[in-house]
This record gives sequence, structure tokens and C-alpha cells, in this order.
Amino acid sequence: MAGLAAATLLAEGGHRVILYEAGKFGGGRCRSYQDSELGCRIDNGNHLLMSGNQAVTRYLTRIGAIDTLTGPTRPVFPFIDLISGKSWTIRLNAGRIPWWVLVKSWRVPGTSASQYLALRRLEKACNADLVAALMQDVHPLYEHLIEPLAVAVLNTKPAVASAAPLGAVLQETIGRGGVAAMPRFPRQGLSESFIDPALRYLSANRAEIRFGARVAALGIEDGRVAGLSGPNLDERIEPTEGVILAVPPWVATELLPGLVAPNQFEAILNVHFRARIPEGEAGFYGLLGGTAEWVFQKGEAVSVTVSAANDRINVDAGQLAQKIWTDLHRAFRIESSMPAFRVVKEKRATFAATPEQLLRRPQTRTHLTNLFLAGDYTATNLPATIEGAIRSGESAAALCTDWSNQHLAS
Ligand SMILES: Cc1cc2nc3c(=O)[nH]c(=O)nc-3n(C[C@H](O)[C@H](O)[C@H](O)COP(=O)(O)OP(=O)(O)OC[C@H]3O[C@@H](n4cnc5c(N)ncnc54)[C@H](O)[C@@H]3O)c2cc1C
Repeated sequence: MAGLAAATLLAEGGHRVILYEAGKFGGGRCRSYQDSELGCRIDNGNHLLMSGNQAVTRYLTRIGAIDTLTGPTRPVFPFIDLISGKSWTIRLNAGRIPWWVLVKSWRVPGTSASQYLALRRLEKACNADLVAALMQDVHPLYEHLIEPLAVAVLNTKPAVASAAPLGAVLQETIGRGGVAAMPRFPRQGLSESFIDPALRYLSANRAEIRFGARVAALGIEDGRVAGLSGPNLDERIEPTEGVILAVPPWVATELLPGLVAPNQFEAILNVHFRARIPEGEAGFYGLLGGTAEWVFQKGEAVSVTVSAANDRINVDAGQLAQKIWTDLHRAFRIESSMPAFRVVKEKRATFAATPEQLLRRPQTRTHLTNLFLAGDYTATNLPATIEGAIRSGESAAALCTDWSNQHLAS
């Protein structure tokens, strides 16, 4: 996403762009593919976006794919508590003044309007504040809203997660009213929304896209990148050319010795079943009190997310699917025999959003004059999300353009 955001922005500005992608397909951690076991296309994981994600809107508009997102027509978040059997839907009002908290049936059951004032603590939080320590006194709002939200947004257990990036997300979404907090997700698939239209846009704008082109080393001369090399790659970088390194942090630190970047990661598990659940008002549900956390109906598959899942990454796929199917059976009263399934384990889905890891996020500029970093792990203030990745790509493209203009002027 970061690389595509930078590349499309530069191509839009009339620059000559060459994209080197190690894989055979684009998308990295945000992609769709045909699954042989299920016999349908699935995403590597459910990705939930919000209408307040401004960089996402800019990007999708640029590549002509803004209409490929869908979601409820109102800012609603349905939850089912597997322990109590209760279900409820949080309903926000459209405007900035959050009067929805005054409507009892629009809140989390058992919470009072005044409890929601505590969300302000998140917006004021600094990196060292931990989500649980800051918020867990607000019962039952913490267990039934803040905790599941924090796990989903930060992909880190709230006991060790920094509250600051969660606060930044809330400020840009719920903090700007329901109009900025409408849940959004691809109508078809991640690739159909975010990747394929971007590749078409790049081709139409005379960019060159090279798949299977892994960059294994940067050639460095006179304080700049002067070459890229790899198994299928031996490129000279001219003094007038800039390079944007939009690889994950574990690759960036290998390519650029001395770079400090996040080095602890959290897994996300996605279990896809060939099945159907009631689509409901939102097209997804938050589940509490079980293993399954977020459930989406995606075409012919029901797709379930479990975040901050390092402690479950080694659980046998069949056992995991069975546990999650039992949760779905309880939540939606669907049949008890488990259908065909696929477990996708993304071991390094995102960096762990702990205070220590946040301190390791690098800036876009590097010590090499023509090299810029992009990626969800860079210092965006946001957690590792599509919005953050796109913003990092935009920043890298802007700095690269500035550098190029200055270089040409001198
Ligand atoms: C299961 C899952 C669920 C998620 N859910 C959400 C969500 O609900 N909402 C949300 O906003 N975000 C979500 N995210 C996070 C989001 O997907 C990421 O933040 C984003 O995709 C990261 O993009 P990126 O460009 O920074 O990195 P990547 O996607 O990792 O891209 C890096 C690219 O570099 C390529 N590459 C690697 N090494 C080399 C090399 N040596 N040479 C050339 N190319 C190389 C890779 O193949 C890849 O294409 C989720 C992530 C996962 C895994």
C-alpha cells in the first residue's frame, strides 16, 4: 500500500516511476487470492476502514476506485456477547456533537452517558500511556467497547499497547462525528479495491511495474543510493533519481544497516468458512467473550478475524477453526457441523504498538540524500493501518519530489 500510494502520486505528478516488487503479485499484507480449498476468492484478512480515513479517500479517488468500498449507510457497530447472549448496536449521530451517547439504546448496555467522556483520555494520551492502565476503570465500557476496539486498531494486547495511536485514530474518526466513523470495506476484495486499480493506473501513466524483482542490496556511493541489485535485478540509479524504500521493517533494516525500526510484531489470524451468516445492518459483527473477534460476510465466505494473536499462532488450524465455528454457531444459531475452512496466519501482520516499539519508528528521510522510507511502520503517529501506510507513501513521494526539484535547480 505504501509503495503503491507513493508510485501513483508520483505518476500523477508526471514523474517516471519504476516499481520493483519481490512477489509475483502486488498488495503485500493487503491482498486477495483464489483459495483452492474453499473454491472462492478470499482476502488475506478482513480490513476495516472508516469514512474518516482521508488518505484512503485520496488514494482511491486518484486510482478511480472510490466506488469499490461499501458499508452500512449509517455509522453503526453491531456486537454480540457470546457469554450473556445479548446483542446490541452502537449508533453514532452524523454530526460532531456526540449526542448519541444520550440515547440509552444507542450506547453499550449498562453504560452511562458520562462514561463516554473518558474517551477524551485516549485523545490526550502520550506514547507511554498504556490502554488498559488508562481506561480499565471505566466499566463496562472498557470490556464491551474500548478493549475490543483497541485490539482491532492496534493489533496489540491493551495491557502493553500504547494509547496514543488509538487516540489518534479516534480523533480522526469518531472525534469528527459519525460522518467520519462510517465503517467501510471492499465490496469485492482487497485487491479489487486497492491493488488492481492502482496497477492499471500506473500502467496508464507509463509507469513500469516489475514483479519478481526482489531488491537484495542497495549500492551506495557518495552518500546516495546509486544502484539496486537482487536475483533478477541490477539497476543503476542516476544522480537525478530518487528511491523510495517501501518494504516491511524487517527488510528495510537488512537493506539499510543502522536503521532503527520496530522489531517486535503481532500476528493476525483469519479463518474463512464457506458459509453464510445473516448480513445484518452493517455487514459485519463484533463478537465478545469467545475466540472470534470480528465477523464479515464476504461473498460466499464468512471471514473471522482474531487480532493480537501471537499466543495462538501455533494452535493447530483445525482446532482453531472448530473453536471459531462454535462461536459462530452460538452467535448466529447456524448449523453445528463445520463447513470447508481456510486458516490464514499472518505472523508479522503489524508491529506491536507498545511504547518501546513506537520509539523505534523511523522518519521518512534517511542519511542517504536520495533515499526515502515508506511503510506502515514509519513515524506516522497512526497505528499500522492502510491509512498510515498510504500516508507514509504520500510523505515519501512529496519529499522525493522536493529533493528532485532542488537537485535539478542546483
Ligand atoms: C490480516 C491483516 C489484517 C489487517 N487489518 C487491517 C484493518 O482492518 N485495517 C487497516 O487499516 N489495516 C489492517 N491491516 C494492516 C495493513 O494491511 C498494513 O498496514 C498495510 O497493508 C501495510 O502496507 P505496507 O505497504 O506498509 O507494507 P506491506 O504490505 O508489507 O508491503 C511491502 C511490500 O514490499 C514487498 N517487498 C518485501 N521485500 C522486498 C524486497 N526486498 N524487494 C522488493 N519488494 C519487497 C512485499 O512483497 C510487499 O508487497 C491488516 C493487516 C493484516 C496482515
